Amino acid sequence: LKAHNARSMWHPMTAPSDSLKNPPAIITGGKGVRITDIDGHEVVDGVGGLWNVNLGYSCQPVKDAITAQMERLPYYSTFRGTSNDCVIELAEELRKFFAPDGLVRAFFTSGGSDSVETALRLSRQYHKIRGDQGRVKFLSLKKGYHGTHMGGASVNGNANFRTMYEPLLPGCHHIPAPYTYRNPFNESDPAKLAQLCLQALEDEIAFQGASTIAAFIMEPILGAGGVIPPHESFMPGVEAICRKNGILLIADEVITAFGRTGAWTGSRLWGVKPDFACTAKAITNGYFPFGAAMISERVAEVFEADETGKAAIGHGYTYSGHPVGAAAALACLAETQKLDVKVNAAARGTELYQGLLALQAKHALIGDVRGGHGLMCALELVADRASKKPADKAIPGKVQAVAYQSGAMVRVSGNNIIMSPPLVLTSADVQVILSSLEAGFAAL
Ligand code: PMP
Repeated sequence: LKAHNARSMWHPMTAPSDSLKNPPAIITGGKGVRITDIDGHEVVDGVGGLWNVNLGYSCQPVKDAITAQMERLPYYSTFRGTSNDCVIELAEELRKFFAPDGLVRAFFTSGGSDSVETALRLSRQYHKIRGDQGRVKFLSLKKGYHGTHMGGASVNGNANFRTMYEPLLPGCHHIPAPYTYRNPFNESDPAKLAQLCLQALEDEIAFQGASTIAAFIMEPILGAGGVIPPHESFMPGVEAICRKNGILLIADEVITAFGRTGAWTGSRLWGVKPDFACTAKAITNGYFPFGAAMISERVAEVFEADETGKAAIGHGYTYSGHPVGAAAALACLAETQKLDVKVNAAARGTELYQGLLALQAKHALIGDVRGGHGLMCALELVADRASKKPADKAIPGKVQAVAYQSGAMVRVSGNNIIMSPPLVLTSADVQVILSSLEAGFAAL
């Protein structure tokens, strides 16, 4: 397997030539919050799979639910005229879970990129049903990440993920993110920066013309872009601007839904009611590929009142509402709520964040520490703090490698080291992540 690792497959977001020189770690087992590699080395999974394994790797009720559903009905489609019992039950549970966010319907997908694509497409359709043919553009945040389909890639705020695949969707424009450490305004006060970014959004809307814009999409806390929590005034400000201009608000909650931020959803963390929430990842904790675009009452009313045929949904996936995925999601949702994982996410998240700040005090390489909202944290590494010049490309990988040998998996994204462990980890597990990172920095 080691010899074939990078020869027989290409790995996402990885240069094939890099994989050949430096083959990816081969993970062969997972138990609790720990993973084991092909050499038998066991570590705390500080990445939680890929921000998704909130309940850890040994969640028996989820395994039981999947097995039972596999035995009973492994698949049936939810296209035109058929449904399945398990997915209806799930839709009901999701409706209750998302009710405080004003989200009352589910459209099922196979993952996060599909959920984003669904929200983008249904946003345009929403306006068309209302006779508003011109509202086709999308706005989003620089540094935002919205998956890899052509629509999601078009609203992606990181040019590295776009340029290689251009031309993408026309009419997608990106505004500055409220990223306190680096921003075009040189503003270090988060509240003032939020106002400047909101002004940039207003300006972009004025420039494009409000009546040409279908939706604004944002992550409540930017994830893959380097864990960037906005000031608390930002997302409510976005919501108000969207409402004022007839623009739909899409919350990309692929990472933030189901407790990761210490609140049940990122929208609830900021007190916002979006028109769509894109979910995936922790909806099944990695036990099955699955997702849901949640839809607001406001949007649902427009679709459901239309009898002219304009609201017929010309969109969907073979695996929309897959019964085994639905069974996994139902069991995950029950377990997530039974364990009230958001409480542990908030408490352990604070410990992790405080520990990272202490690490920053010791290591000049750590320019910025971000977190403070549950179990999403990042270290941004710099060559020196005064210039904020990003650290040499090789440095984050070196820290990661030593941290891995010392007992914890963390993730590298550009010059950031990212942590998003399972929400069920203990204080002792948090300490393992911190001491492993400490070893990583000490080894440089
Ligand atoms: N949106 C966000 C915010 C994400 O973090 C991701 C995945 N990291 C996606 C969309 C895409 O999800 P998927 O990889 O399941 O297609």
